[in-house]
Amino acid sequence: MTDLTSITLAEALDGLEKKQFSSAEITGAFLDAIAKANPHLNAYVLVTEERARAQAKASDARRAAGKAGPLEGAPLGIKDLFCTEGVRSTACSAILGEFTPTYESTVTANLFRDGAIMLGKLNMDEFAMGSSNETSHFGPVVSPWRRGNEDAKLTPGGSSGGSAAAVSADLCLGATATDTGGSIRQPAAFTGTVGVKPTYGRCSRWGIVAFASSLDQAGPIAKTVEDAAMLLHSMAGHDPKDSTSLPNPLPDFRAATRRSIKGMKIGVPEEYRVDGMPAEIEALWRQGIEWAKAAGCEIVPISLKHTKYALPTYYIVAPAEASSNLARYDGMRYGARASGRDLVGVYEQTRAKGFGAEVQRRILIGTYVLSAGYYDAYYLRAQKVRQRIAEDFRQAFAKVDAILTPATPSAAFALGEKGDDPVAMYLNDIFTVTANLAGLPALALPAALDKQGLPLGLQVIGKALDEESVFAVSAELERAAQFRAKAAKWWL
Ligand code: GLN
Repeated sequence: MTDLTSITLAEALDGLEKKQFSSAEITGAFLDAIAKANPHLNAYVLVTEERARAQAKASDARRAAGKAGPLEGAPLGIKDLFCTEGVRSTACSAILGEFTPTYESTVTANLFRDGAIMLGKLNMDEFAMGSSNETSHFGPVVSPWRRGNEDAKLTPGGSSGGSAAAVSADLCLGATATDTGGSIRQPAAFTGTVGVKPTYGRCSRWGIVAFASSLDQAGPIAKTVEDAAMLLHSMAGHDPKDSTSLPNPLPDFRAATRRSIKGMKIGVPEEYRVDGMPAEIEALWRQGIEWAKAAGCEIVPISLKHTKYALPTYYIVAPAEASSNLARYDGMRYGARASGRDLVGVYEQTRAKGFGAEVQRRILIGTYVLSAGYYDAYYLRAQKVRQRIAEDFRQAFAKVDAILTPATPSAAFALGEKGDDPVAMYLNDIFTVTANLAGLPALALPAALDKQGLPLGLQVIGKALDEESVFAVSAELERAAQFRAKAAKWWL
């Protein structure tokens, strides 16, 4: 029998349906793979083995009783930002200590409703702040990928680094992730996986630890575009518990992956270039354009002229919201508490010890831009620029059906390489933050390997609520790219 961990979600569901194997068997195969790989990759911060085996057994019973859900028996990994009932959920921050929620996030509840199995909680940057998974309280995730024959440890990207590494290394069939400024798409691009950030409001934020609430969106990281479409369909949907959750009906995302894209207009924005961007990324972008043309698309040059302000805008809006959201961690309500001379001392000690350096930096920036003297100059101005960025997209989407860009300005870098330069780290998000600021759906898919053998990704951005076009274009590009490369399993 083929290795059950290396198949896609669609293949696994097919095999389960045909009784080629049981959920207990495939779940066991993933638990074995995790036991071997995790000491090297650090993708999971908690493996919920007993619970996974019990869920799988119950799933097999449901299937035998003819009550299989759309994801029945499929073992997934869950980013540690999602609250899971009775299972430690820390956002990979020391300040949450051993916090164990008494409730289930809507997204994970939706997945379990559809029959999914949870293998464990996945590593991530602390509170999802980062692009390399190095801000995690549990230490960085090591990418399964390596540069050529070097054994230097590379980043899987961030903040959903555990999700991307786990999917890429066959430690789950798919994973949940979140994207505030690129945290689904950048790690997907770095690890040769597919990551989708849906339209803001498609997935409920209820029970997801908040970072920047007007930008945060959940989505899947998967092995293929089709798998991502299936996972998103289960994760998404209206939720009265989140006031920004959209009531719109869910289209059949999976069907959209088989749709022809002939005659579609694909926008190519001239501004998606940065100084020092490797020629290989430029070449891959041109290749993507050729693939779209060959599929019968019309290529339309477009201008998104406020793109250069997107990163500074994001790094005002996101920290501002974060500083407000993180005010709740005072040692009284959740997780860890440090001792202090009086109440204020407890607050100070708890926050000084509980938050890592990057989170403290974001709180400082956020508090500064929201302070009375600077509110108009920074926060209010950033909100105005955010509107201009959204307007650029509205104008572009009057002329095109989808937009094609590179996913990231570079391939994965080594752990430690950008550690002491926050601005160099923030530059990773340059092509991804725009979709968050405008609330648009966007998908990253693997399209080629660079000279050193590392994956490079393309990004497809769609109109609000038009994930179907994003899936259709991405699936066509995936068929054209024929990306089959896998990281060598050097830990075995
Ligand atoms: N890398 C970005 C940041 O550090 C985006 C993070 C995210 O999308 N959660 O804020």
